[in-house]
Amino acid sequence: MDTLGIYISVPFCRSKCTYCNFASGVFPSSYMAQYVERVREDLRRAVERFPGMPRTADTVYLGGGTPSLLPPDLLKALFREIRDHFMLTGDAEITVECAPGQLADDALDAMLKCGVNRISFGVQSFVDQEAKATGRLHTRSVALEDIRRVQQTGIRRVNADLIAGLPHQTAASWNESLAVLMDAGVDHASIYMLEVDDDSRLGREVLGGGARYYAPAIPSDDAVADMYAKAVDALAENGLAQYEISNFARAGAESVHNMKYWLRRPYLGLGVDAHSMLRTDSGPIRFAATDDLQDYLASPGWDDLHLLTQREEMEEAWFLGLRLNAGVNVRLIEAEFGNEALEPYLPIVEELSADGLLSVHADQIALTLRGRMLSNEVFARFLDVIEIPEPASV
Ligand code: SF4
Repeated sequence: MDTLGIYISVPFCRSKCTYCNFASGVFPSSYMAQYVERVREDLRRAVERFPGMPRTADTVYLGGGTPSLLPPDLLKALFREIRDHFMLTGDAEITVECAPGQLADDALDAMLKCGVNRISFGVQSFVDQEAKATGRLHTRSVALEDIRRVQQTGIRRVNADLIAGLPHQTAASWNESLAVLMDAGVDHASIYMLEVDDDSRLGREVLGGGARYYAPAIPSDDAVADMYAKAVDALAENGLAQYEISNFARAGAESVHNMKYWLRRPYLGLGVDAHSMLRTDSGPIRFAATDDLQDYLASPGWDDLHLLTQREEMEEAWFLGLRLNAGVNVRLIEAEFGNEALEPYLPIVEELSADGLLSVHADQIALTLRGRMLSNEVFARFLDVIEIPEPASV
């Protein structure tokens, strides 16, 4: 029997970072109690609506937004609701995302009481000028102090996020951020390359050729690719091996929750813009809540449940599995979908391998370093390869 991962989005932030493309914002804190109540209702609704869903959970992840801003009583109410409906395994991984400088002592204390055993810090840069330029409210010393404070409570599992490609970043300042990160004694790091798209203020400014948000000071694509490659090497040398396009960990410290996404294991997402994937007798279903806080507060539940077609499942098996350094095993794909379904993908694998984007060792297929940098182009090649009927709604 599968165990479940539970994700809860908490969309409240103290300020909106210029690069942020998440469904988060600076909302009045008076909304928080109502929001948590809605999430609790949704959890109860999910239990009724999906009776076949696993009732044992081995991961809980509070992301956002900035969940560390939730007042202790609301945090405790959330965890009470979870434990009322789900059995959490003894070794369940329970993560809360925190913004440095926004983790009050009473919030940390409440997290410990709720069983939180992993903290993820959205640091993005340990260089103060870079953090400030993107609207982050912390300095290096604040971030390091928070990491130390969490570690001192006995929580050993700490992640720090960094972004390559921020305004003012240079090879030297990137190396400095990496060195500080490695010195901080974290057991996990997430390294993202800045996304330049319409979904963030900075992205829009760059695309429009404007000068706000220090857009002209973002490094070139080549410089960002070099930063990423540098991170892969430097982190590995310091015991944080890459295991996914953006994720690095000490052996055994890989994120159990995030692995569920890439291995297509069931998870229930609750809250604004939270996505779910559950397995049913008819096949896997996906659904998501609205990404608008007001709509979420006003209208409960999910309207649009989508039953995946075999082609969609197959595509996910490729592009989610290939995110992992271990890659995908063709024999496992064959066992799940059959040889006939696998065949049309093999020429694509051959072509991408000839282009140096995939490596093939026996039955294991994985992205090369260059493939990881160009992953979206690689994944696009695995879409619409086979003809199948239109996806169904459930
Ligand atoms: S990056 Fe994180 S802290 Fe900044 S606005 Fe987005 S969700 Fe909030």
